[in-house]
Amino acid sequence: MNRVLIPLLLFFTVLEPLSATEPSRYDTLAYRLATKALSENTSYLLLHELCTTIGPRLSGSPEAAKAVDWTKKKMEAYGFQNVRLEPVMVPHWRRGTIEEGWYRANGKKAKLSIAALGGSISTPKKGLSAEIIEVRSWDELKRIGQDAKGKIVFFNRPMDRSLLHPGQAYGQAVDQRGRGAIEAAKYGAVAALVRSMTTQYDDTPHTGSMSYVDSIPKIPSAAVSTNDANMLSALLRDGAKVTVGLRLNCETLPDVESANVIGELVGTEHPSEVVVIGGHLDSWDKGHGAHDDGAGCIHTIEAVRLLKELGLKPKRTIRAVMFMNEENGLRGGIAYAGMNRPGERHIAAIESDAGGFMPRGFGVSDSATFEKIVRFARAFRPLGAETFVRGGGGADISPLTRQGVPSFGLNVDGQRYFDYHHSADDTIDKVSEREMAFGSAAMALLAYIIAEEGLGN
Ligand SMILES: [Zn+2]
Repeated sequence: MNRVLIPLLLFFTVLEPLSATEPSRYDTLAYRLATKALSENTSYLLLHELCTTIGPRLSGSPEAAKAVDWTKKKMEAYGFQNVRLEPVMVPHWRRGTIEEGWYRANGKKAKLSIAALGGSISTPKKGLSAEIIEVRSWDELKRIGQDAKGKIVFFNRPMDRSLLHPGQAYGQAVDQRGRGAIEAAKYGAVAALVRSMTTQYDDTPHTGSMSYVDSIPKIPSAAVSTNDANMLSALLRDGAKVTVGLRLNCETLPDVESANVIGELVGTEHPSEVVVIGGHLDSWDKGHGAHDDGAGCIHTIEAVRLLKELGLKPKRTIRAVMFMNEENGLRGGIAYAGMNRPGERHIAAIESDAGGFMPRGFGVSDSATFEKIVRFARAFRPLGAETFVRGGGGADISPLTRQGVPSFGLNVDGQRYFDYHHSADDTIDKVSEREMAFGSAAMALLAYIIAEEGLGN
């Protein structure tokens, strides 16, 4: 047995217990995909181009329209088939030019790092100011009740930084952002100020969507940086009376026609059986929207390009979809799933919307699908992406998941994701060239395996 083989065999033998799957014809494909993606560096270069030539792509904005055009042209340039736009009406909220926050306490006045939340109404032209009242739970708000009248409710329940998965901490805290303005207005508050959804302590406010209901008066709502949230909370704890002022001229304009962008690698044997692979093209208007979700869109385009360039012709159709409007409405995902597609059948949907970090594996929407796909986990080992878990998918493909389409979400090393999420820090310099390449290779491999093997559905 030659010297080269021994370490390889040792490698496989040692790891075998982790995911007992038999060898498959895909074991070497991961290498071919990864080495090509790494050497050509197209994943990073495409993302760099999207971020620096178009930038943030809020739904309804001119930049989002440019991104639709740009991705369509890229798909055409790479020879994708049936490249087309599927029109969808999307909301058009814009931040405006005025976004100011300040506080006054103990005779001192100073600026606050704030950002209007997506969907918020503006303040009066001159701004508004009021005493703040801090709450860390809905129960606490209920207990305060009418004491919130005429005040700004300061929602300051931090993301739990002790949780191993920051996504879980986000899931447990983001309700404050989504519903804060509604709940505060119920008690007559004049505005809502929400601690940024990050575990980082810094001066960067993190925006994101918020909502209103017609039966409750609408009040302005803004995120405040974690450093300023801690500072305001310390002042209150020391018994200071704290007044906060906000001046915002954000607004919601009429819906705009936009589109999902689609391109395909048509199947050779079962072209009407479709594997959707995608990410969302829109982003918040802070930073570049590099990790959220420029990375997922580029993973998608690059996955199909890599398969094409390697001369792979899958039995079933792989359809790349740039979904529009994930951040504040999900209109693209809903429109895609709601469209009548005679003679077609979705056999799977795969989404990347967790950032351009090192892939770790995939979350799978249901156990039956998990059992079918896990036998191929070994093939992902060279990419470090062999961890398949039950539970997963993606926001844009969730309407398909609800229709019973087996769904997959790319899982990555997400420890830094919420450091940048929905903020001015989500920029291309936070993205690693190599990690992007591995992510694209992992998306390509899964799409190809499913398009070849089917899922027996
Ligand atoms: Zn996203």
